[in-house]
Amino acid sequence: MLRVDGLSSWYGEAQALREVSLEVGKGEIVTLVGRNGAGKTTLLRCLMGLHPASGTVSFLDEDITALGPHRRARRGLGYVPDDRGIYATLSVEENLLLPPETGPEPWSLERVYEAFPRLRERRRFPGTKLSGGEQQMLALARVLRMGARLLLCDEPTEGLSPLIVAQIGDILREVKAAGVTVLLIEQNVHFAATVADRHYLLAEGRIVESLDNDEVREREHELLDYLGI
Ligand code: ATP
Repeated sequence: MLRVDGLSSWYGEAQALREVSLEVGKGEIVTLVGRNGAGKTTLLRCLMGLHPASGTVSFLDEDITALGPHRRARRGLGYVPDDRGIYATLSVEENLLLPPETGPEPWSLERVYEAFPRLRERRRFPGTKLSGGEQQMLALARVLRMGARLLLCDEPTEGLSPLIVAQIGDILREVKAAGVTVLLIEQNVHFAATVADRHYLLAEGRIVESLDNDEVREREHELLDYLGI
């Protein structure tokens, strides 16, 4: 579904990504793992067209390298930033309804509430009154409502309690069951191995390893040490 070849990116003189190549198949959940500063956020931003890069990106067999973020969204890419981008003064429902249906497969409000019953309960609450987990659910729900077919999620579990992390895992599995593909940044390798199909390890802007769940489980302690967690 997504194919990235030789992607490089810079901040001024500093190179943040070095010849990154990867693939994500339709319906897969794939994680990006790596230390702080490895380039994970930059990679997602480049894939969404929010940061310039060289190399090629194709999505559903179409070369989208030259397209800006809006046109990538129209083809079905959806970006969930790490700050979640919730409008604090608007209600949950307004947050869901405000962004336009840009993607090819927009979810109705009813479908969103069926998948996220907690958001239905909280639909009149302002963004400021939501817990971290609820904000994360809202951020995910919003890109699904906009019609994304591939979610680019920047560390959805960061700062959340184990119970809420487990709920996010259930939601990601539901999203996958609905046919949506996910590429997510995830430092919690234990969680990553329970929710994802495959993993890429990123170091200093390069993909250094591609791992399956068994490899992540066998090397969990080594990986946590390496990541400094
Ligand atoms: P983190 O989990 O800490 O966000 P990351 O793996 O997502 O780490 P990036 O945020 O993509 O890493 O950063 C990759 C490199 O680019 C780092 O060396 C970082 O210092 C640098 N960088 C990131 N954003 C900027 C920016 N706006 N200006 C200059 N350098 C930046």
